[in-house]
Amino acid sequence: MTTPYRHEPFTDFSLKENQEAFKKALKTVNKEWLGKEYPLIINGERITTDAKIVSYNPAKKDEVIGSVSKATKELAEKAIEAAATAFETWRYTKAEERANILFRAAASIRRKKHEFSALLVKEAGKPWKEADADTAEAIDFLEYYARQMIELANGKPINSREGEYNQYIYTPTGVTVSIPPWNFLFAIMAGITVAPLVSGNTVVLKPASATPIIAALFVDVLEEAGVPKGVINFVPGSGSEVGDTLVDHPKTSIITFTGSREVGTRIFERAAVVQPGQQHLKQVIAEMGGKDTIIVDKDGDVELAAQSIFTSAFGFAGQKCSAGSRAVVHADVYDAVVERVVEITEEQITGNPESHSTYMGPVIDAASYEKIMGYIEIGKEEGRLVSGGTGDDSKGFFIQPTIFADVDAEAKIMQEEIFGPVLAFSKVASFDEALQVANNTEYGLTGAVITNNRAHIERAKQEFHVGNLYFNRNCTGAIVGYHPFGGFKMSGTDSKAGGPDYLTLHMNAKTVSETY
Ligand code: NAD
Repeated sequence: MTTPYRHEPFTDFSLKENQEAFKKALKTVNKEWLGKEYPLIINGERITTDAKIVSYNPAKKDEVIGSVSKATKELAEKAIEAAATAFETWRYTKAEERANILFRAAASIRRKKHEFSALLVKEAGKPWKEADADTAEAIDFLEYYARQMIELANGKPINSREGEYNQYIYTPTGVTVSIPPWNFLFAIMAGITVAPLVSGNTVVLKPASATPIIAALFVDVLEEAGVPKGVINFVPGSGSEVGDTLVDHPKTSIITFTGSREVGTRIFERAAVVQPGQQHLKQVIAEMGGKDTIIVDKDGDVELAAQSIFTSAFGFAGQKCSAGSRAVVHADVYDAVVERVVEITEEQITGNPESHSTYMGPVIDAASYEKIMGYIEIGKEEGRLVSGGTGDDSKGFFIQPTIFADVDAEAKIMQEEIFGPVLAFSKVASFDEALQVANNTEYGLTGAVITNNRAHIERAKQEFHVGNLYFNRNCTGAIVGYHPFGGFKMSGTDSKAGGPDYLTLHMNAKTVSETY
């Protein structure tokens, strides 16, 4: 019997002993974990290539976190073949056996929890709290999906009748290509790897090129926990070259992707093409971008609104699909809310995330830096700059949290995903207008409403079209098993990671009817 699921607690960094423990972990990672090389893994075999993907610290751009070998098209094909062969045995293993591997892997991560989080600080520039939450979420995915698989092992109840015994069971689908983003470099990477695995599929994991080291370490954890050779294959490589090969391969059955709208729609389209020799339709799970809104109603609590907007916009420098990059505020409280958000923002420190006092670290790389700074220039034309607006990429990719007020609802910075620390305020005259503005993008991922009006809460439940809707809090920070996560419209296939229906997306439901 397993214990009931409970999410992994966050570390309380206000306690001195936790601060000391985390500093020690950072020291260990700095001294012992950095600068290593990791091979590809295909059918359990370690393969080293001359070409490498090097992972750098975005806060100290010359510091190397580590490097991974880089797969070619041929190696990517070899990985799919290995996964296809391994599927023929792995698919028949017992659900409980597969779940136990995930429990062991979770225990193993827990033993080095701060070290893993410290690596996230280094590899993605996450402040302590964000890194700690990312590791906790990775553990949560393992614990949650393992339990869900045990529950699904006997299928779901259907009716039988006299002389006829009927069953509704789930069977594994096949080779899964897992393609994670860099922003939740541990949690999403782990989640989209173990969900197919525990459901009896074999996996080819292509990590994000900015953050391959945590992925290499995670694959080691899975192997140590008992994942057999060929069941997990690790093939870092260029998204366009290796990515297309993996997606197009006729033996690929599932593609589980989290990332941008641009790449997600490309994968969706390519996966629809039936290749020569392919005997099935591919299943695509694509979780994509967001342009998420916080509405503040006229009777909303100003302090709560300001804190919620600030946290949603600037947590992990706005590099979350759920980041609240648009605040739509009723005219009655607009000035007060803008003023308070600016105040809170300007009290915070942007800098090296290795320091406990840092609220916001760098953005991920040079390309992101340039893109975000470009949006800030656009913002200067489209709105009134009330805070930030500058960047410094001399040592790392640092951008001040930036706030624009009085932005038109149709403006570029109100419509396009910036994926950086840029917040736009729009003023509205009514709750109707607020809902209309909130729904006016092509995305539908998260949203929040700050209000004390019960009728408005009920209306928003029906009329605010997002996959994750929150009241009187921030629009980020979904927790596995508590806030199943995924979006509508161009935010993706609404697969609801960390939710009760997630694993069934990785399996074929089979009806079995036996006549006595
Ligand atoms: P990205 O689309 O650039 O890359 C995601 C992954 O796709 C990477 O591993 C990349 O190497 C790979 N890739 C690139 N080209 C490919 C191709 N042609 N074929 C196959 N794979 C390819 O996204 P990113 O910059 O890593 O992440 C940021 C984006 O992810 C944002 O848009 C954000 O909103 C989104 N995101 C969404 C969610 C969600 O749950 N909806 C969660 C996190 C991030």
